Amino acid sequence: MTSRRSALVNASGIRKVFDLALTLKNPINLSIGQPDFDVPEPVKESAIAAIREGKNRYTVTQGIAPLHERIRAEAAKYGYHPEEVLITSGSSGGLVLAMLALCDPGDEILVPDPYFVMYKHLANLFAVTPRFIDTYPDFRLSAEKIEPLINKRTRMLIVNTPSNPTGVAYSPDQLKMVAQIAKRHDLYVLFDEIYSCFSYDHRHESITKYHDRVVVLNGFSKSHAMTGWRLGYAMGPRDVIQEMTKLQQYTFVCAPSMVQYAGLTALDLPMTATQEAYKRKRDIIYEGLKGRFNVRKPDGAFYIFPEAPGGNATEFVMKALKHNVLIIPGNVFSERDTHFRISFAAPDETLRKGAEVLCGLA
Ligand code: PMP
Repeated sequence: MTSRRSALVNASGIRKVFDLALTLKNPINLSIGQPDFDVPEPVKESAIAAIREGKNRYTVTQGIAPLHERIRAEAAKYGYHPEEVLITSGSSGGLVLAMLALCDPGDEILVPDPYFVMYKHLANLFAVTPRFIDTYPDFRLSAEKIEPLINKRTRMLIVNTPSNPTGVAYSPDQLKMVAQIAKRHDLYVLFDEIYSCFSYDHRHESITKYHDRVVVLNGFSKSHAMTGWRLGYAMGPRDVIQEMTKLQQYTFVCAPSMVQYAGLTALDLPMTATQEAYKRKRDIIYEGLKGRFNVRKPDGAFYIFPEAPGGNATEFVMKALKHNVLIIPGNVFSERDTHFRISFAAPDETLRKGAEVLCGLA
């Protein structure tokens, strides 16, 4: 018998798609949630050197001091000077610790829908109730959508910008509005900016300008394609980050030691060429789809979230699968199943081919 707690996590949606995907030979794969480039060579070399130099033991729970310093310098570029920093095992590690540190069983959190799947599943696992803010059709937040969902059990609001799966980045006005609501109702904001490095048309905006009770999550998975290396960080008010550090001590212990050293090298590398390439990919896929699909041009991240023809995403995804194109139905990221997610972290030619096939099915 496994636990009732574990049974609260229902991950059937995405598994079904991946099971079906296994049956395809050389699919046009537009489903992958990670960069299509490899970890930059200097970062690899730095990890190898760290291993050779014997930096293979536990680090301090909070992560090595020079990486804290570099991360503070990065944050300062956005006008943010966090009270405390914690190096985590990926930003997922930070997400787990933040939820545990901030929410009790029976609490409620506000999650803009569509959402990154882990928010919902972790909330359920921790007996926290996710209340979804329906942001269709433009994926914008408004006070009218948020405030009716707030009650005395509400603890926290999650903001993910640029967003997985929509690619929407919130404007300064939107973030100011969210901050005002959070202040008025005494809520924490969990600010997931893992895609901040992929902001195509505007500079990434941090909500920390407008609100203090913010836990920021970021990491190296998307910016430097280090998804398998498990390096992220959390920043925020001293009391919360110290609580998260305590919890890390008894769960993840520390982020991988050699990867923390490699993170220092990563932060010194200019990634502008990659960011430019992803902006081009954004343009290829948007231009390829916009004639046939009701779709918003993504501001950032590497996802685009068109409406499925006829409004039935699963049906359209199955049709696409029959034509060897792999995309993900919206119900994996949403309480609705009207849209589908394309990841444009793929070769340009794959994007062109994929868009052509999908347009032919619309
Ligand atoms: N937040 C968002 C919005 C994501 O899309 C992802 C990865 N798909 C993560 C957090 C987790 O990333 P990691 O744990 O690899 O840092």
